[in-house]
Amino acid sequence: MKKAISILLASLMLTSLAACGNSKNNSNTGNTASTGDTKTEDKMPTIGCAIYKFDDTFMTGVRNAIDEAAKGNAEMDIVDSQNAQTTQNDKIDLFITKQVDSLAINPVDRTAASVIIDKAKAAETPVVFFNREPLPEDMQKWDQVYYVGAKAEQSGTMQGQLIIDYWKAHPEADLNGDGVLQYVMLKGEPGHQDAELRTKYSIEAIEAAGIKVEKIAEDTGMWDRVKGQEKMAAFLSSSGDKIEAVLANNDDMALGAIEALKASGYFTGDKYIPVVGVDATAPGLQAIKDGTMLGTVLNDAKNQGVATYKVSFVLANGETPSKDNTGYEITDGKYIWIDYKPITKDNISDAQ
Ligand code: BGC
Ligand code: CA
Repeated sequence: MKKAISILLASLMLTSLAACGNSKNNSNTGNTASTGDTKTEDKMPTIGCAIYKFDDTFMTGVRNAIDEAAKGNAEMDIVDSQNAQTTQNDKIDLFITKQVDSLAINPVDRTAASVIIDKAKAAETPVVFFNREPLPEDMQKWDQVYYVGAKAEQSGTMQGQLIIDYWKAHPEADLNGDGVLQYVMLKGEPGHQDAELRTKYSIEAIEAAGIKVEKIAEDTGMWDRVKGQEKMAAFLSSSGDKIEAVLANNDDMALGAIEALKASGYFTGDKYIPVVGVDATAPGLQAIKDGTMLGTVLNDAKNQGVATYKVSFVLANGETPSKDNTGYEITDGKYIWIDYKPITKDNISDAQ
């Protein structure tokens, strides 16, 4: 009898040990709905996700897409880094202490990726960066590092094309008739690949189309609507009558600029100026419908969010991401690029 009890106890212990051992790098098919296995809940991998700040219109879209995609498949713990890299580092340390199965990080400062990779590697926790692209040399530090994003150059070129099309179709847009496009640029956060490259490639595209340009002013609105409005108001008070086009690195700053322009009498009667943004956020699309924003470039928050979830999920299960298991093409072994798309009032439904 005694022997029977001890065998029973021993086997109970073994079973519970086996269950515990499955918490890290377990293999989970992810499709809890179709397996019909009621116990898959226990086996869901945990993913630690940090957003650079919750108070960002575009990142809110990405965050919601990650959250939605993870539902029922992974325990996705999403935290706000409140625009401070030190705060984000603390949150990452906490995730590592909690032994999450993988990390999905939207860095505050993309050059901080190096330190984050060192931490992740030491803990053998794979990491997926998104939206803020680590430097290429940092991406090479470990094979368990991935990046999900969109080619910043592409968005710049597409934005430039929106201005080219307008300028060619509207000779009256050349207000002073000098054959030169006088523009102002509202830049995103300096150092962010999307701010630097959109600024550069939008203007290069316009010049490549044979249009001469003159920069009247450029300043950073830090991706922010209120700051965009303030900067545009300053441009208007110093050189308002000279400005023939407004390029903003994102929709929030374009919308801020539109507020400032409205306050200066634009968009009433025939006082018009082309304003372009990037993102195709809901308020951005509304401005296109209202006729205040000429166009934008779809920055696909949905697919960036879903791809971030998929890659971090596959890594959490100890597998190697591929087109088969993520649904997204993997370039150079570690990059997932989501295409941009130009949006005007003619194809607005493509962005909704
Ligand atoms: C978006 C911006 C956003 C930024 C955050 C960019 O890709 O266009 O709207 O503020 O990412 O990192
Ligand atoms: Ca001109």
